[in-house]
Amino acid sequence: MSSFKREEIICLFDVDGTLTMPRQKIHPTTEKFLLTKVKPVTTIGLVGGSDLGKIAEQMGGADVIKRYDYVFAENGLVAYKNGGLIGKMSIQEHVGEEKLQMFINSALSYMSKLTLPVKRGTFIEFRDGLINVCPVGRSCSQAERDQFAAYDKVHKIRESFVKHLEAEFSDFGLVFSIGGQISFDVFPKGWDKTYSLRFVGEDGYKEIHFFGDKTAPGGNDHEIYEDPRTVGHKVSSPEETIEQLKTLLHL
Ligand SMILES: [Mg+2]
Repeated sequence: MSSFKREEIICLFDVDGTLTMPRQKIHPTTEKFLLTKVKPVTTIGLVGGSDLGKIAEQMGGADVIKRYDYVFAENGLVAYKNGGLIGKMSIQEHVGEEKLQMFINSALSYMSKLTLPVKRGTFIEFRDGLINVCPVGRSCSQAERDQFAAYDKVHKIRESFVKHLEAEFSDFGLVFSIGGQISFDVFPKGWDKTYSLRFVGEDGYKEIHFFGDKTAPGGNDHEIYEDPRTVGHKVSSPEETIEQLKTLLHL
């Protein structure tokens, strides 16, 4: 492994929980280690689930796309290499407007028949890589959010809703993911972090390492961690990422 040149090996990193403490900015020590010790010996890339703005905020500013060889935002649907945009994909482009409207209409119709403790606004939120469906409405207050979460635990609102949509749109190639307190995400199959590997794959690395903290089934690092194209490394903190890098790269 130490015989590889920098252009032959790449280390990809999840951001939140792997390079930073959850929802925090990267610690200067971690950043310095990555850029002065790791980057000289291996190509480095970020694979985050959030959009570029959020990744930049956690990773020390908008020039993050220049400091890391690759930056994959939204699981790679928005991809940068050497500071330049190399790919951008949207759900409407992939699924198509007709199917998209069939799906949205059906989801709105289902929600119109639900009675909940409260209902507010923004029941469907459209992002580049996913549709977020929220029965209580995303504009609810924190108290209303907590109330829905408790109600959902008992009445399985989201679980039943997802089952209904899965059955109705079984041939649409969609994946449903219940996360957080009040909503679930809908996105095309394969639009997890493995999406980023199509870009890295074209560049002919002999070894692709991936470091992530949510590697268990259901976690957003699971698919790329398990992917046969990568060597997966499970970590529980930025400190552990540094320790594993020291061992892997003999630093
Ligand atoms: Mg993470």
